[in-house]
Parts: sequence; structure tokens; C-alpha cells
Amino acid sequence: MTTVIDGKAFAARVRAQVAAHVARLVEEHGITPGLAVVLVGEDPASEVYVRNKGVQTVEVGMASFEHKLPADTSEADLLTLIGRLNADPKVHGILVQLPLPAHLNSELVINAIDPAKDADGFHISNVGLLGTGQKSMVPCTPLGCLMMLRDHLGSLSGMNAVVVGRSNIVGKPMAQLLLGDSCTVTIAHSRTKDLAAVCRGADILVAAVGRPEMITGEFVKPGATVIDVGINRVQRDGKIKLVGDVHYASAAAVAGAITPVPGGVGPMTIACLLANTLTACCRANGLPEPEGLTA
Ligand code: NAP
Repeated sequence: MTTVIDGKAFAARVRAQVAAHVARLVEEHGITPGLAVVLVGEDPASEVYVRNKGVQTVEVGMASFEHKLPADTSEADLLTLIGRLNADPKVHGILVQLPLPAHLNSELVINAIDPAKDADGFHISNVGLLGTGQKSMVPCTPLGCLMMLRDHLGSLSGMNAVVVGRSNIVGKPMAQLLLGDSCTVTIAHSRTKDLAAVCRGADILVAAVGRPEMITGEFVKPGATVIDVGINRVQRDGKIKLVGDVHYASAAAVAGAITPVPGGVGPMTIACLLANTLTACCRANGLPEPEGLTA
């Protein structure tokens, strides 16, 4: 029997842990962790993400600071706002919603965030710290995948892990995290030869490709744990349906465990954003970090 890894339930547990920790911080130290989210422009998908982030931030007892800027905001004005948030002691986490409008340099903007407040873990300092196995802020989606893998498998040490995708926001940090947990890691991408055979060597298979249902059962080693990061909107029978990068039915028939789409990795991302903000707040105040919520 294949285990379905329930990301929705897991994310609810993470949020409850965060909320309990926040309540203690408020009661014992008078500190309320705060997350600032910056949205430039009116991209409808980004607006939904930002709204959800704000709602969940408040639900766990944190302060939410939303900054909505017009699409034609200048780089100088955006950098000034980031400078203000960096200096604001009420703000422990900062997230700039991507993608930014084309006239803004995303790298420059992300690297202007104080690395200690970089709730998304995309600042070049955090990328370097993660790559050298040091304490860092870790990108939310891969952190969520790692938490689910640890929860399901216990120790990951010695396992063969294949990550399909080498993006800076998912594939590469995912590979670093798995390496940090002593997996033998392969990163596959669009130039990988015989991808199916490479994937069939995986005890842990993480798909972050952005191609609907590309990873079929043929790619899966019997009993493997399959994590589907993909979120793709496809037309089916005249309706829009959400599917992953994994072909669920065929992969689930072979895998030992699998995350569904929706309800797998997706809900973990915001839960980990909240966990990261809490971690940043604890670090900023010299307090112990929340257990089980960091890499
Ligand atoms: P991305 O930046 O487009 O990267 C996709 C990666 O997949 C690239 O490294 C690319 O290889 C590789 N790839 C593309 N076609 C391939 C093929 N035919 N065979 C093997 N590798 C192939 O995407 P991303 O931002 O990492 O996102 C990946 C997926 O995760 C998307 O579906 C996205 O929507 C989803 N996502 C979900 C969450 C969440 O919260 N659950 C968060 C972020 C992203 P090359 O480098 O060689 O081009």
C-alpha cells in the first residue's frame, strides 16, 4: 500500500507548533514576531499568495505588514522601503513577492534584504551558508519537503536522492538540504541522459520540473518516496485542473509514499515561511530556535 503524505495536515501541525511558540514568545518575553511582505504590481496570482500569507501570519499570532506598491515603482523607492524594513525592530522576516516587474532587478532587490531577515532564504549570503552547511535562512518550499521526508522516513542518511530540476528556488537548495542530511544526491535537469533510469535509482525522488505529469511510474523505483513540487494548471474536460510534475496514478502504483497535488508540498510553503520568520525572530533576540522547524 502506498502512503499518501498529507501536506495539508502536516502544514496545519507546523502552523500549530509555530503558534504555540509565538504565544510563549509574547507571554514570556513580550516579543511578537513580524513578517513584512512586499508586493509590487497587480499580478493576480501574486495577490492571492500575498493575501494567504497575511491571513496565516495573523492566525499564528504574528504581526503582518503588507506593502503593496504600484507596478511602476522605481528601484530606488523599493530599495528605500527594504532599508526601512531592515532597520525596523518589529520586522523579523521580509519577503519580496516574485516575480517583480521587468524593470526591477530581482537579484539586486533580494540581496538588499538583511540576510538575517531573509524569510525566503534567497539572499546570496544564505545560499552560501546553506552550501557550506552553516546556519542559514532556508528557502521555504525545499524546507517543507525536507520536513515531510524526515517525518515519513526518519533518518535520510545514506539514501539515494534524485532531484529533478536545478532552479535556485527549489532544485538546488533541495539538493543541498538532502546532502546536509547525508543522502547521496543527484541533480537531474533538461540535459540529463536517460532521466527515467537516473530516477529509478532514487530512494527519494523530488520532482521540481514545471512540466505537468512528466514523471510517470516508469521513473519510480518500487517503494521509493516521491515528493511532487510541481504546480501546473491544465485544461481537462473544459475545466482548469491543478496537477503536479508527477503522473500521480502511475507513480503511486509503484511508490512507497507520495505527495498529492494539491494538498502535498503546496500548503507546506507558507507554513515554512511562518517557521522561518519565527526562527529569525528567535535568532535576533538570542533565544533558542524552535525545535523541528529548521533545517
Ligand atoms: P524552473 O525554474 O522552471 O526550473 C525547472 C527545472 O526543471 C529546470 O532546472 C529545468 O532544467 C528542469 N527541466 C525542465 N524540463 C525538463 C525535462 N524535460 N527533463 C528534465 N528536467 C527538466 O521551475 P521551479 O521554479 O524550480 O519550479 C518547479 C515546479 O515547482 C513548478 O511546477 C512550480 O510551479 C513548482 N513550484 C511549487 C512551489 C510550491 O509552493 N509547491 C514553489 C515553487 C515552485 P534546465 O535547468 O536544464 O532548464
